[in-house]
Amino acid sequence: MICENLSVNSDGILLFGGRNTAELISKYGSPLYVMDEKRIRKNCRIYIDSMKKYFGGRSVPLFASKANSFKQIYRIVNEEGMGADVVSSGEIYTAKSAGFPLEKTYFHGNNKTDWDIRYAIDCKVGYFVADNEEEICAIDRIAGEKNVNQKILIRLTPGIDPHTYEAVATGKVDSKFGSAIVTGEAERITKIALSKRNITLCGFHCHVGSQVFDSDVYISAAEIMLGFIADMKKKYGYVTEQLNLGGGYGVRYTEKDPVIDIEANIKLVAETLKKFAEKFEINLPDILMEPGRSIVADAGITLYTVGSVKRIPEYKNYVSIDGGMPDNPRYALYKSSYTVLAAGKMNEKCDFQCSVVGRCCESGDIIQEGVYLPSSICRGDIIAVLTTGAYNYSMASNYNRIPRLPIIMINGDKDYIAVRRESFEDLARNDV
Ligand SMILES: *Cc1c(COP(=O)(O)O)cnc(C)c1O
Repeated sequence: MICENLSVNSDGILLFGGRNTAELISKYGSPLYVMDEKRIRKNCRIYIDSMKKYFGGRSVPLFASKANSFKQIYRIVNEEGMGADVVSSGEIYTAKSAGFPLEKTYFHGNNKTDWDIRYAIDCKVGYFVADNEEEICAIDRIAGEKNVNQKILIRLTPGIDPHTYEAVATGKVDSKFGSAIVTGEAERITKIALSKRNITLCGFHCHVGSQVFDSDVYISAAEIMLGFIADMKKKYGYVTEQLNLGGGYGVRYTEKDPVIDIEANIKLVAETLKKFAEKFEINLPDILMEPGRSIVADAGITLYTVGSVKRIPEYKNYVSIDGGMPDNPRYALYKSSYTVLAAGKMNEKCDFQCSVVGRCCESGDIIQEGVYLPSSICRGDIIAVLTTGAYNYSMASNYNRIPRLPIIMINGDKDYIAVRRESFEDLARNDV
């Protein structure tokens, strides 16, 4: 199986975090997101322990909460000692409502409105990650109006193509995010930030992309960033306190995806960074990382129920489930791979090739194509889609007025509702 928290019992039923998926459906209804709290905590600890060990005590991982934002996840990552990165006022609100210490948050995004900036300063968000000149000026102006000094990092693009697909490649010079080092824009806005009275520049940020399996891209990015940091020290005497390397380590969606040893990767990145710092004759800044996907993805699965099986001989077969693009738009958006299983028929041979599709009025409403399921698959069977803990709930919509799924958290033999299922009243709540 693609993750160690998956197994099969003697009745051929899929177990997730040791729990019977069929029983979870009977208890909470269908469809469902299920998340394994133990696995989330384990993923957090790998980053926390490795960063402490290889970078020292002041280097912390931040949970990139856009991967999955709801109150309980902020409580869990906080208990584990992580900070968080937030990308909107809505995420700030959610973190705050959960009691998350906002001084440990970093506020991202390439277009923060004046309203967002005011809200974030009022909430005492620890750091802004400023994307561009207008934003640096707006943060300085609003901090001045409020008589506070706001800590910021500046987001830079080191000019790295992370060899992943275009939609999640963000470290390149022509990215909509950040300011490029090679064009001189990075230096120009660093000077602007240093000249402002109501902000304190604490360092720099870059994020090279997502679903990355190879530390080469971090190492290349880090070398370029440290080169820039050394340059700023030489030219302006500016000493960088923090270097935030972003997120992006990949997870296993299918058996084909490699297993990635995060601790070994962090060790390698740390060793290389120390060498670069020596070469550039600077002290290594505190290093931050922002894992999102690799904290929550494999801690989540989605359970559905089959409604119909359509066989079109010589053409194609369809298995329709009671969910789809509203709860998981990633195949529609990027043709993302997923492992799809018949959770109640794990001992049967899978020789029926089909597309697993949702129930929306939209032919792009597909969860996965070229799936192999048992040929006995029929109405009422449970389908499990694995590795859905990241970018599923957080990207969910109400297309076709379909209520969002609940998130059921399991922890050993305990289970609880972390997010309730939306009701019809919720759907029409704002209609006048
Ligand atoms: C999306 C994002 C992350 C998290 O990326 P993952 O691939 O989920 O680890 C981290 N930092 C920034 C700035 C991001 O935009």
